[in-house]
Amino acid sequence: MRNTTITIDSQALTHNLALIKSKLASTTKVMAMVKADAYGHGIAHALPPLQDADAFGVACMSEALQVKACLQQLSIDRPVVLIEGVFSHDEWQLAIQQGFGCVIHQQQQLDWALANQPASGSFTQTIWLKHNTGMNRLGFDDEQIITAAQALNEAGYRLILTSHFACADDVSHPLNKQQIDRFGQALKHIRQFAPQTLASLCNSAGIFNFANEHHDWVRAGIALYGGTPLANQSASHLGLRPAMTLTAQLIATHDIKAEEAVGYGSIWQANQDQRIGVVSIGYGDGYPRVVKNAQVKLQDNHQHWHLRPIIGRVAMDMLMVDIDGLDIDVGNAVILWGDAPHIDDIASQAGTIGYELMCRLTQRPIRVVR
Ligand SMILES: *Cc1c(COP(=O)(O)O)cnc(C)c1O
Repeated sequence: MRNTTITIDSQALTHNLALIKSKLASTTKVMAMVKADAYGHGIAHALPPLQDADAFGVACMSEALQVKACLQQLSIDRPVVLIEGVFSHDEWQLAIQQGFGCVIHQQQQLDWALANQPASGSFTQTIWLKHNTGMNRLGFDDEQIITAAQALNEAGYRLILTSHFACADDVSHPLNKQQIDRFGQALKHIRQFAPQTLASLCNSAGIFNFANEHHDWVRAGIALYGGTPLANQSASHLGLRPAMTLTAQLIATHDIKAEEAVGYGSIWQANQDQRIGVVSIGYGDGYPRVVKNAQVKLQDNHQHWHLRPIIGRVAMDMLMVDIDGLDIDVGNAVILWGDAPHIDDIASQAGTIGYELMCRLTQRPIRVVR
């Protein structure tokens, strides 16, 4: 069998959630973001170790239904929140029927909520009302947010005012303060007529960078999975452990002569006679083809690990590495990312972020839990 595997470390997930909680006041709750199949980790694998989260956040109805089914199977009773809300009136009815929490970020969603109301006591009765504080992605502006809050409050809904940082990964970015101020002002105004209104502003970066802005709910994503949310601090520096190790195997070795080329386009040439290895993973598995100067970690025949560079182009099913001088055979294990190299290293060598590498893994690697 082709041994290309995503190993999920449940203890790392539990550790990262506990680390996040240790940064919060005891009254602040955590929504664990499990959209995009738990950032590529697999919902079924990620939920059990994250069961101490207070709610689970997803991006669409199919994800919500999948998460709910999984939670039911595990006998975990936690709310599921649609962080973009519903996409049609029918979906609003389904959200009510399923008891999902919903964001409301635009007028149509507001109209649906005012036209059909959930039974009192339903989790859907709490609306995550989205304020656009400067990211200009989702949410009502400073005036509309007050009108929307008034309408929902009068209709009997409870409110959680919510907004999203655009630049929280960079603590000194001037937009952060503007967003915090606009959010604070709207919250103060809404609490004048709806004093029970709660608030939620922070993603992972906000949790680490803006300790005074945690409010009632934080929404943690990348940090749970052990990727860094910050532009200038590594995950290990923050105490986060990678929840995912991507491994493959050496499937061939060759002794090549100086000046021979390797792989598509012959973009890499040997300087000397040397040994190269072929590894059973490629962009068809989700490993990025565009990496520059990336390394893998290989296990030799004496249980020692070595970081070695990828040579030539990454192909769909394979990539080649420099194994010169190593005592190593076909079948030996290769780590593409885990503790080292870290997914954030490979991401920067691919010109992207750890989030994208996690989410773009395909269904071809098998996922196992450790
Ligand atoms: C995905 C998402 C988050 C989590 O962001 P991270 O940077 O992964 O922590 C938080 N809030 C909203 C609205 C999101 O869509």
